[in-house]
Amino acid sequence: MPDLWLPGYERWELPGVPGVPYDEFDDPKALLHTTEGSTVEGAVQAYRSFPPQLIVDPVRRRKIQHIPLNRGGYALWNADADDSRCFQVEIVGFAAQTHLWPDEVLRWLGEELARPLHEYGGVPYVVVWKGFRRDGEMPYPLATPSSPLRLTQAELDSFSGFLGHQHVPGDDHWDPGGLNVGRILEHAQNKEELPVNILGQDGKWYPAEQVFFWMGQDLRRLEAKVDAMTGRVSDREAQVLATVRSLPAGDDAEAFAAAVAAQMPPGMTPDEVRDALDDVLRRAPQSVPE
Ligand SMILES: [Zn+2]
Repeated sequence: MPDLWLPGYERWELPGVPGVPYDEFDDPKALLHTTEGSTVEGAVQAYRSFPPQLIVDPVRRRKIQHIPLNRGGYALWNADADDSRCFQVEIVGFAAQTHLWPDEVLRWLGEELARPLHEYGGVPYVVVWKGFRRDGEMPYPLATPSSPLRLTQAELDSFSGFLGHQHVPGDDHWDPGGLNVGRILEHAQNKEELPVNILGQDGKWYPAEQVFFWMGQDLRRLEAKVDAMTGRVSDREAQVLATVRSLPAGDDAEAFAAAVAAQMPPGMTPDEVRDALDDVLRRAPQSVPE
């Protein structure tokens, strides 16, 4: 997999920490931290030997990437989550204040952080079910390994979406506090280009999720024929096929499309996935006699 550097992010590689290879690729997640300081430089100085992949400063509007997204960061001190397709993000600011951040800051984080992590990293727009909490909000202290806000290791492994250091098992950090990640993800999804309409073979326009859903159904119907195409699908097409097949068969078109978007191979847009799938499906019926 080629190194995945986010467009628009300043590239700042640190010596001796090129990123760790992932040992798991499923369930992509973004793990948010706050730096407990006010500058990027101060934070980098502090975590120089254990950097995350990304650091952003929503006040000065800076976006920096230390490690490509196809490799793990070090922000959890090499804990198991680091190498499990977990994108570590340091946000400049203080955990005790994140719940007070204005909507403008949340919008910036949605558009400049959450959206690229979704589009290039495949992180679904899902907030960890326990929520992001600030100190004093819960009837128990957050800054202990026994905080009920923490996930179990198994829950962490299988979760895909956005969570915080406060949810990591065996740790006593509680950053990034009561950050309104739900609102951040709302902003991330409010992009002008959505909803995408796709031109169907009958010359009419259909919402993308409907088209994806039909293609998923076609794929299941034509499964044997697609299987018979061994050797005639490109690596890229094989990746898309594997992705679509791994999705739950249901009759909810919107959920299906969201799953496609969430599981999308990194670096591929919905349009490219659609094109690849479309191409295979068009070739499939000819691959074996009717
Ligand atoms: Zn942290």
